[in-house]
Amino acid sequence: MKRSNYFIPTLKEKPSDIEQQSQVYMFRAGMLKKQANGLFVYLPLMQRAMEKVNAVIKKHMAEAKSFECKFPILVSKELLDSSGRWNAFGKEMFRLKDRSENEFAISPTNEETACFVAQTYVKSYKDLPFSIYQIQSKHRDEISPRNGVMRAREFTMKDAYSFHASEECLTEYYGKMRQAYLNIFSDLGLKVVAVSADTGAMGGSGSEEIMAISDSGETDICVCSSCDYASNSEAVPCGIGKKISKKAFKTVISYKKVETPRVKTIEELVVFFNKSASDFCKAVCFNADGKLVIALVRGDREVNDIKLKKVLGCNELEIASPEMVAKSKKTVVGFVGPVGLKGIKIYADFEVGAMQDFIVGANEKDYHFDGVNPSDFKAEYADLRFAVEGEPCPKCGIKTNFSKATELGHIFMLGRRYTDKLGMQFATKEGGLKTLTMGCYGIGVERTIASIIEQHMDDKGMVWPQQIAPFLVDLITVDVNNEEQIALSKTLYNELNNQNVNVLWDDTDARPGSKFADAELIGFPYRLVVGRGAGENKVELVIRKTGEKLELSPEEAIKIIIK
Ligand code: ATP
Ligand code: MG
Repeated sequence: MKRSNYFIPTLKEKPSDIEQQSQVYMFRAGMLKKQANGLFVYLPLMQRAMEKVNAVIKKHMAEAKSFECKFPILVSKELLDSSGRWNAFGKEMFRLKDRSENEFAISPTNEETACFVAQTYVKSYKDLPFSIYQIQSKHRDEISPRNGVMRAREFTMKDAYSFHASEECLTEYYGKMRQAYLNIFSDLGLKVVAVSADTGAMGGSGSEEIMAISDSGETDICVCSSCDYASNSEAVPCGIGKKISKKAFKTVISYKKVETPRVKTIEELVVFFNKSASDFCKAVCFNADGKLVIALVRGDREVNDIKLKKVLGCNELEIASPEMVAKSKKTVVGFVGPVGLKGIKIYADFEVGAMQDFIVGANEKDYHFDGVNPSDFKAEYADLRFAVEGEPCPKCGIKTNFSKATELGHIFMLGRRYTDKLGMQFATKEGGLKTLTMGCYGIGVERTIASIIEQHMDDKGMVWPQQIAPFLVDLITVDVNNEEQIALSKTLYNELNNQNVNVLWDDTDARPGSKFADAELIGFPYRLVVGRGAGENKVELVIRKTGEKLELSPEEAIKIIIK
């Protein structure tokens, strides 16, 4: 490809609204153009990167005997109602109506369509296992799209779905797919870890996320310092099985009301009472499908909304607005507490059950209760909080460490979560009927590309791993008006093409300095420079990763490139 016939609109400056370094480079290298919040035009270099990554994914999907399909992007309300997810998805799912008022979703994920396909073609045990996948746009109305393609509202997912005769067959195939995922990321030059995860809106019995450790990652992962336990921090079980302290259930009421003018937050209370945050109980008001509920955690903990949502079994959960709390006329923002509160359901974290003589809001402006115990109020106890770094590992009891990571893939053992609902049965060998068991497996393609860049970059730009570089070689003619240089460049260009090397010939009349800067920014593994040495049949080969510069004959340079 000649750069004069190609379109790579590189930028000198970074876009003002982009901070994450991989994204800065992707925009500056002319891969992306923002069209609207969370929506991007993929320019030719991005398209090439997508094709490279997709080719690796397709190879491993074929090895896992998954068949490539393409589903419609629109999914009918009817199909989504069949699994109960038209309602379960909430605001993240884009919805629309056709001209006849029929409702559709723009698919955020595609389990229902995969089930629809399996329902049609899987009739007997002979058809199993059955696995299909697609590489297709997904749309999600994310609350806050950010970091370019890392969290977009339209992105590409490789989503695979498998169907099995039994739980054991699913477990075996899931293991294969898990390995395929690890192989895909390794082929892409990515270092990843598999961590156990929450199943979220997908449902099912178990899932793992494939994470790239990254300082700019949005997810905290919890890894044991001693055993092989690794989990998304959201999914780390806390305090399960802990006995609620008997001492905490005093029969005599011993709390007293204390005036706390304008003292609302835990930080303010710590100062006011001269106590530590763990001596307080935090009461957080939530709006669960329009109903006000209260979650209690120790003052130094945070409510885990994913755990709470599961306990509540609701579709939408958000912090209740001050208006909603005021409208209830039962409590006052900043002074919320469980004592004497009637008509609002209270959920308390296990840890609260073990607390004694703590301080909570008194549901009255400018007052708190001091000396409260769990016997002073009614609550449903559950695991409701986020784990924190350093807590004992849930598997072996030794200390955990936390690090930041980016989720690249998510694999699920869905079991019969969908197949039961949709009545998906197959004829067994013995002549009976049995419900299918299901798994699903996703990879975010753009996020994967961004993570490859993040793991392979320096202060000058991207440093593509050879196997997936959009172009392996940037052939630079320093002076395009010099006949010797043009002639030698042409020979090299033809030879590299004959050897099936992906080469971009920078034959433009841009300044050499700007060509070199672009080469470093775009991160071609090799820069082959035809300059003054052309007369003596010499070229310069620069290896992007090491910065090594070699003065070579054209033949020697090609030998190194194709080795
Ligand atoms: P996250 O927790 O980051 O929102 P998710 O759990 O919603 O991710 P899945 O539903 O498991 O993601 O989707 C599979 C994959 O799709 C993810 O592992 C990720 O790589 C990618 N992905 C999900 N949401 C986005 C997004 N908004 N932008 C880009 N990629 C995404
Ligand atoms: Mg998400």
